[in-house]
Amino acid sequence: MRVLLVEDHPTMRGLICDHLRKRGFAVDMAPSGDEALAAIRVAVYDAVILDLGLPDMDGMDVLRRLRTERQPHVPALILTARDSIEARVGGLDAGADDYILKPFDLAELEARLRAVLRRPGPRSAALFRFGDLTFDPGARSAAVAERSLELARREACLLEELLLAEGRVVVRDVLEERLYGFDDEVSANALEASVSRLRRKLVAAGSLVGVEVARGIGYRLKLGVAT
Ligand code: CA
Repeated sequence: MRVLLVEDHPTMRGLICDHLRKRGFAVDMAPSGDEALAAIRVAVYDAVILDLGLPDMDGMDVLRRLRTERQPHVPALILTARDSIEARVGGLDAGADDYILKPFDLAELEARLRAVLRRPGPRSAALFRFGDLTFDPGARSAAVAERSLELARREACLLEELLLAEGRVVVRDVLEERLYGFDDEVSANALEASVSRLRRKLVAAGSLVGVEVARGIGYRLKLGVAT
């Protein structure tokens, strides 16, 4: 699960990010509204955690732009110290899925994040497609030309990340960060091993899609890769 964390306070941002990464989430951080909007333009998130008091704009404006222009169905959790009834109602009206008052407990934040992620919505029906390959991020299932492709958990994560990039190169450091939590023991060639297994499975399934190496940089999906 990939989460965008929009929070300007560095300590708060670090604490939330560390906690969620340890719990298996991939977390992107944005310290300002502008950076949040830039992230939303290029990436697809499973959820957004949004502080209202940002240096360059109100978090509500970020939420409205997210809802109207970018990802109308992505769950949004609002973080704020504004404990007035008006602010709560305003947040929910603007399309927030939940509202968490500061200070809060990290375990509570995680529980509420998981709760909004479990809510069924149109996003759970969205499939990623590339060539003859489809991936259902909710069910964690992949298919080649509609025939099911059995993938281990990390291979599915790898495929999801490559599909999110839509054929652009994904830097290997980024892949390692997404695939492995801080607590995982990661051997030097763990990523290569996952890539090799995914490639073999794609070839065995007769897919037109392959995983191409960008030497020294990372990997990307490509149509018609000679393997
Ligand atoms: Ca703030």
